[in-house]
Amino acid sequence: VSVDAVVIAGASLAGASAAAKLRSEGFGGSIVVLGAEARPPYERPPLSKDYLQGRQPFDRSLVKPPEFYPENKIDLRLGEPATSLDSSARVVRTAAGEHRYDALLIATGARNRRLPVPGADLTGVLDLRTVENSDAIREAAAGGGRAVVVGLGFIGAEVTASLRGLGVEVTAIEPFPAPLYRVLGPEVSAVLADIHRDHGVSLILEDSVEAFEGDHRVERVITKAGRHVDCDFAVVGVGVEPEVGWLEGSGIAIDNGILVDEYCRTNIDGVFAAGDLANHDHPVFERRIRVEHWQNAIRQAEAAAGNILGRNEPYADVHWFWSDQYDANIQYAGYHTSWDELVIRGSIEDRKFVAFYLSGERMLAAVSVNWPRDVRRAATLIGAKAPVDPEALRDPAVDLRKLVPTS
Ligand SMILES: Cc1cc2nc3c(=O)[nH]c(=O)nc-3n(C[C@H](O)[C@H](O)[C@H](O)COP(=O)(O)OP(=O)(O)OC[C@H]3O[C@@H](n4cnc5c(N)ncnc54)[C@H](O)[C@@H]3O)c2cc1C
Repeated sequence: VSVDAVVIAGASLAGASAAAKLRSEGFGGSIVVLGAEARPPYERPPLSKDYLQGRQPFDRSLVKPPEFYPENKIDLRLGEPATSLDSSARVVRTAAGEHRYDALLIATGARNRRLPVPGADLTGVLDLRTVENSDAIREAAAGGGRAVVVGLGFIGAEVTASLRGLGVEVTAIEPFPAPLYRVLGPEVSAVLADIHRDHGVSLILEDSVEAFEGDHRVERVITKAGRHVDCDFAVVGVGVEPEVGWLEGSGIAIDNGILVDEYCRTNIDGVFAAGDLANHDHPVFERRIRVEHWQNAIRQAEAAAGNILGRNEPYADVHWFWSDQYDANIQYAGYHTSWDELVIRGSIEDRKFVAFYLSGERMLAAVSVNWPRDVRRAATLIGAKAPVDPEALRDPAVDLRKLVPTS
């Protein structure tokens, strides 16, 4: 099919990046971008960091300046969410009408998981995905006070750090023995726990929320172990789920997000997916991977745009992301769920190190605390699938770039 009309569902980082890439690659047909939110596409990382702390204006988060869309003949339909897909008619429906496509990119991202406990809908039980959510947290924090943060994944950990920056007392509740324990393992996650403790956070570990209580407004959190933690507000960060409800009955294959092949193609002809909701067949890791990373949302969407235009190029980027908590910069490259050897370069005690996760002779992932350079370099090694020598990894004098096979 020659592609004259592209519809993009989802007007955020992935959707806007794909639209921009189509134009920069010379696509002259129509581009319609459907968005559920009222604001033009913006980046979410500042929402838990500088924007939340009132140190960065919203405009700095825009993916493109507002005039970019009309100037590039991108029909940005804000506040017009896709409601269904009829793939045999090649039509996306919204409350306002129908949009016919030759190629469709699904980029509707993810929504926050809710805690299925009593009191979760009390006023003052907040979560964070949108700029409005971030504003609500900042407003709740305005008077200082006490907050409970539920879940110490990256979002919960960043919100905790930002709330401390705003002078709020924070108790954080996490079911595992340390923040990000399952992903990073005991050695590295213990460092993160200590960073929070050093900043005055009260950590409740290996416990979870049983209920929120209060008279209309949340006043305390009750944990499974029977603790009662008084608070003025709570922020829940317990993960996301792919935003795929509108695709019910469409025939699009879904399993932990939308299944796409290495070219970002779904099981249905002419339909692609990218960003937080895409469960992608990754050529480097030889398995399906769905990640929730800023860089992936851009790069995967650009790859999908290229493939919409018939480029036929697999998307094989090694995933990378960062997190800022207090003055600690954390970076991660690769993908791992289990490992058989952890190699440390640098010093855990000084909180300046990079940890490499190995399986057999292969490096799957690297995470750094205040040592970003070697994570970027490790990404190249991971992408090369090269066998690695733990001794060389451990030695800070060895330039990781020299370990990449040249052939
Ligand atoms: C607070 C916060 C901090 C973060 N910090 C970092 C970080 O430090 N580093 C990092 O790498 N990543 C970070 N991320 C992750 C990063 O923001 C995401 O990976 C990225 O936003 C994914 O982009 P996306 O376009 O795939 O999805 P989303 O950003 O989820 O966008 C999807 C869009 O589609 C819209 N939508 C939903 N349903 C429909 C529909 N039916 N029709 C039309 N539109 C619809 C949604 O409203 C939304 O605007 C952070 C995320 C959050 C929330």
